[in-house]
Order: sequence, then structure tokens, then C-alpha cells
Amino acid sequence: MESSPSEQMLYNKTTKRFTQAGHFYINSYFIETRYPTNNQFAAIEKHTGCPVSTLRRKFCRMRKQFPLLTYVPLRIINTINFLNSITMEEAIALKTQILDANTYEFLINPKHVNEKITINEISSFTSNKIHDGKYLKDFMSCLIKSDNFNHSSKHDSFINITPACTTWSSIKESAKNFCTSHSINKLRIPIHYICLRARLPILPSTLLEGNVRISRLCSTNGCIREEHIVMENTSISTGREHCGGIIVVLRPYGPTASKRILKIQPCEHGVQHVDGDSLNFSCRKMQVSILDEIAIAYLDSLYKTCSS
Ligand SMILES: [Zn+2]
Ligand SMILES: [Zn+2]
Repeated sequence: MESSPSEQMLYNKTTKRFTQAGHFYINSYFIETRYPTNNQFAAIEKHTGCPVSTLRRKFCRMRKQFPLLTYVPLRIINTINFLNSITMEEAIALKTQILDANTYEFLINPKHVNEKITINEISSFTSNKIHDGKYLKDFMSCLIKSDNFNHSSKHDSFINITPACTTWSSIKESAKNFCTSHSINKLRIPIHYICLRARLPILPSTLLEGNVRISRLCSTNGCIREEHIVMENTSISTGREHCGGIIVVLRPYGPTASKRILKIQPCEHGVQHVDGDSLNFSCRKMQVSILDEIAIAYLDSLYKTCSS
């Protein structure tokens, strides 16, 4: 069936080449379905105008060109392409609208601190180094809506983009154009993606290939803190989910006095970033170890030996 004049041309039968929109359509289809069935090929032919025999050869070439690495869902592809279709100014305006419409606070994920301490006492930890309790509190704090911690599911924070999107006026026209040209009724955009787009002139195409993803150092759904949102290798990002985080060794000074930080050990993901402070890229989780009396007595004996 011929495409109607109002529809965007996807395949040029004269040059026997796909148009830009056609390439996008085929690439998106390929990411979802690497081996279309006969019926699916027939449907693609009907939609694009490209003969099935040509489509079969194209899919074969694409499978060789793009061996299966990491699966990237179509909604992520659409999200990255949409965010790159808007300007950085639009992304900044959209982020501002989202911040104005919600109540974000600096809060520590309670699941990321073990039961040996309370979240409230972290800032009181003392240290003779720069990484004291106030540093740790800031290090661990997400910028988040408090009810995000209540979701037991993997629910993330999204905004919905539709062709007739009026809520997010800053991107109204761009949303309409993108959704219409890509036949999208609704696109859920993770808010932390928007925050990153507001910092970068463009999101790199490597995000479409599956080896790199937008990740959070805090593994906390809903967090939009700039310092916690990074682009990194997919395997590192996945590893953060199961990482125990930094290890903080404390020395207590009586039951009521503040605790002293003896040592902060970065997590493996922070150590992998060789440049700068390895705590910067460590996971925002902390395991606390409090020295017992025997360990303290041993340390004190060592100190006396060294100083005598
Ligand atoms: Zn965070
Ligand atoms: Zn880690």
C-alpha cells in the first residue's frame, strides 16, 4: 500500500534508500525485534514501502553490524532522541518547571545506612581530616521527594510527554513535533535524564548502544541531585545495585559523646575512577564499623608504643 501524501516518506522507491525518518523507524524496530517474522516483515513493507526481500537483507546486515551487546529498550532510545531534539535552554526550563512543581529535599536514603548509627548523628562525627561528619552527611544526601523512599518497587520518577502536552509548557511545541513525527502517544521521561540534559549540550550517541548508561551513584530512584547523576559503563552501573558502599570506621568516646572517624574506605566503583578523590564516584551507601573496647585498647597500646 502506498503511503498517503500526508504521511512522512520512509523509503524512496526511486533511489531504493531509506529516508532519515525511515532509518529511525527501521533502527527502532531492529532494537525491539532483531528477527521479524514473515507477518512482521509484511507489516514493515506495508508501513515503509520497502520490499520484504530488501528488508530481509537489511536486517541481516544490521545483525552482523550490531552484534547483541546490551539490550537498550525502545523507550530509552526514544527518550534520548527526544531530549536531544530539544535545546539545552528548553531542558533547563523544563527542569526548573519540574522543581517548581514538586518539593525536593536533601535526604539520606535510610536503607543505605546500617543500624549501628542513626542518620541524624552522621553530621556529629568528628575527624582530624577533611572528610568529617558534615562531609559524610552531604556525601550521602540525595535531592529527592520524601515519598520516593516509600516506594518498595523499582518505581522511578518520570514525566509524561504526549503530542498534546500542556503541563510542561516549556517544551510544548517540541513534544508535539517529536511525538507526531515518531507516532508516539505517550513517552515517559525519567527526570534525572532531564537533569543531565540540562547540564550537557547533547547526550552522547553511545547511550543508544547499550555500553554506557545514565546512572545514579546513590542507586536511589527519584534522586535528581546533580552530583549523583553520571554517565558510566553499564557494567559499573549494574554493579552499584549490589555494592555495599563506603566503609566508615568509627571510634566511640563514651555512649553520649560524638564518634570519631578513624578511616573511610571508598567502594570499588570509586577506586575505579583513578582521577581525583576516589570517594567522588563511590556509591552513596555506607557500612559503619564501630571499634569495640578490645580494638580500642589495642590501638591505644600501639599509639603508646609509637610515642614512647
Ligand atoms: Zn542521590
Ligand atoms: Zn560501589
